Amino acid sequence: MDKRDVIARAREEGVKFIRLQFTDLLGVMKNVAITVDQLEKALDGELMFDGSSIYGFTRIEESDMYLRPDPDTFVVFPWRPRDGGVARLMCDIYNPDGTPFEGCPRLTLKRALAKAAELGYTMHVGPELEFFLFCLDEDEKPTLKTHDQAGYFDLSPVDLGEQARRDIVLTLEEMGFEIEASHHEVAPGQHEIDFKYSDALDTADKIMTFKFVVRTIAQQHGLHATFMPKPVFGINGSGMHTNQSLFKGNSNAFYDENGPMQLSKEAYYYIGGLLKHARALAAITNPTVNSYKRLVPGYEAPVYLAWSGRNRSPLIRIPAKRGQSTRVELRNPDPSCNPYLALAACLTAGLDGINNQIEPPPACDRNIYQMTDAELKELGIGSLPASLQEAFAELAKDEVVRGALGDHIYEKLTEAKQTEWNSFRMQVHQWEIDRYLTMF
Ligand code: GLU
Ligand code: MG
Ligand code: MG
Repeated sequence: MDKRDVIARAREEGVKFIRLQFTDLLGVMKNVAITVDQLEKALDGELMFDGSSIYGFTRIEESDMYLRPDPDTFVVFPWRPRDGGVARLMCDIYNPDGTPFEGCPRLTLKRALAKAAELGYTMHVGPELEFFLFCLDEDEKPTLKTHDQAGYFDLSPVDLGEQARRDIVLTLEEMGFEIEASHHEVAPGQHEIDFKYSDALDTADKIMTFKFVVRTIAQQHGLHATFMPKPVFGINGSGMHTNQSLFKGNSNAFYDENGPMQLSKEAYYYIGGLLKHARALAAITNPTVNSYKRLVPGYEAPVYLAWSGRNRSPLIRIPAKRGQSTRVELRNPDPSCNPYLALAACLTAGLDGINNQIEPPPACDRNIYQMTDAELKELGIGSLPASLQEAFAELAKDEVVRGALGDHIYEKLTEAKQTEWNSFRMQVHQWEIDRYLTMF
């Protein structure tokens, strides 16, 4: 689509309002609404907004930034009125002097993709987003209660959560998503909806759209959807397994009919790169204090730095499909991550593997959770960081992953996450009261 197409479609579809959307450093979607009369000006990249209230977005002296919409991202919101409807465009952020803003996550991903393109690669990504649907209380505030359990008392034959998921899928399809699977996940109230893989930029945009649609439709069903990685202690958390492959032209560069496990050299090196940088990557793929409550043994989430063709316990799994579907599934990312930064960081780590021919360790097909510490040590199997603080200490040491972010984003993120960590660290948690109040 180009500018003309967008304007024509907006007119045909009776759109009155356009939301110009972008994602901040912390992975939260922001938007500015304009009327359709401003659309042409917006598409010419002439609309400014005050970025000073958005974390990490401005230098003090330059608070007005330009939004440059990507015409390919035009989509109408199916749940808004047909007449006088609402559409959105995803935007990149530019400085007042017209140069790309180094704090824009979407441009950061584009930069990483351009580096891959220089080597002839396109990155394809298929994510698996999990989330919880929780009930609201009388004041419409989210609770941790789920409908599955309330179902015991419920006379209604249809579970409210299942009904909401059905509507989410239908809405996403209307917005151009190809939904491959949707199912109830292991934990009560937990769901997963998988959509077809696409190039990395489109997928990152889709992840942001997905979260927004899930939240909106859940709300219409009187439920609260959350992508918080571990909302409830003692049951599974929510992951965002990230299936990644590199294409060269029309063929999958990870597939080699004659390679070991029918994987190419590039696939092995990519795995080597991901494993080498995994501890630093975690700061980006698992960016909240809560992310690390999910990455513990016993809940189908990865803990150890290993890969396998069969087994689901390691960090990286190679799903059975080959040919064009050959891919590497990275299992630690969670849906609280900023998808633009997460994909930029993963790709950069994988390319580092290819450029420096980093051999991965042998595949680990045993259940790592049953290994003793001595066995883990002997096999040289390390683990993911145990906390946000540990992850950021790793990131500080990893030039490659930091390079994917650029200095501005690295510094602003570190500052924000240090504040987040300190605020958490100073709290006195219920666990401590339970443990120590009567003990000492
Ligand atoms: N919910 C699990 C996680 O936290 C993943 C379950 C699955 O294998 O789909 O990663
Ligand atoms: Mg799942
Ligand atoms: Mg999976």
